[in-house]
Amino acid sequence: MANVAFIGLGNMGGPMAVNLVKAGHSVSVFDLSEQAIQVVVSEGANKANSAQESVKDADFIVSMLPAGKHVKALYLGQDGLSEYIKTGALVIDSSTIDASSAKEVAQGLSEKGIDFIDAPVSGGVAGAAAGTLSFMVGGSSDSFERAKTVLNVMGKNLFHAGEHGAGQIAKVCNNMLLSVLMVGTSEALNLGIAHGLDPAVLSEIMSKSSGSNWTLDVYNPCPDVMENVPSSNDYQGGFMVDLMAKDLGLAMEAALESHSSTPMGALARSLYAVHAKDNGNKDFSSIFTLFNKD
Ligand code: NAD
Repeated sequence: MANVAFIGLGNMGGPMAVNLVKAGHSVSVFDLSEQAIQVVVSEGANKANSAQESVKDADFIVSMLPAGKHVKALYLGQDGLSEYIKTGALVIDSSTIDASSAKEVAQGLSEKGIDFIDAPVSGGVAGAAAGTLSFMVGGSSDSFERAKTVLNVMGKNLFHAGEHGAGQIAKVCNNMLLSVLMVGTSEALNLGIAHGLDPAVLSEIMSKSSGSNWTLDVYNPCPDVMENVPSSNDYQGGFMVDLMAKDLGLAMEAALESHSSTPMGALARSLYAVHAKDNGNKDFSSIFTLFNKD
């Protein structure tokens, strides 16, 4: 079993760290929130008084923070962890951040003899709790193999996308496509409803026809068509509009950097930006209400 440090114990990081504890790893945890630390410590993790203390004996360091600026500050900022992590350890950053920041952190750590992978996830809070996340990894093949010791405990599908930053690019490509599918499904359903169709019947027709996609199959955005999805629970739970808006911002940055044309992603970003104004905490399928005439 390995010595693991886990930093960032929020909605995602908390349950991920608990799964590492349950698998028998020795897990030293830190978060800026004392309450977040206590939840994971009550499940058997060891409390560290600082991020620096948490990494002292760690072979693996996992971070799950909000954005690129937090990750850069943690590892390379003033009193950054690059000065404290032992040589040869592997840093696994699972936050969703811009690929440039991931590459910068990888470079800064490698100068100290520390390995790094970017390993953003898909699967949400439910996947974090169940240990069924998908990890999209950027880094060397050796690091990818080594990381499996801890990633296998937290996830079900592990993908090696390419070199540093590739995991983050794969993540924003996936979420950009997901947003386009969600917007398209929402407008199609509302068009049918406006012409008197029953959304359940229309959903069944499209899911068995060429319009079939993931949102129709398992995450229908129209209330009461499907059980146990956020749309049937006042759009509570699931994946927040604010987080989708953030990921679409990252997709647009990536497109600018590579001179890529992403008109559908840009439109989805614009729609989610408007929608986020009063609905930031709702599930992203609530974009359905933007097209609803009722
Ligand atoms: P969250 O806001 O619930 O948790 C972030 C945690 O990081 C907080 O507890 C905060 O106190 C802590 N933190 C911030 N700066 C810190 C620092 N310097 N040192 C220690 N702790 C610090 O966010 P979340 O929902 O857990 O998301 C984390 C990341 O995962 C984000 O990048 C998000 O985009 C990504 N993500 C989230 C979901 C989801 O459904 N929530 C799904 C996939 C990916």
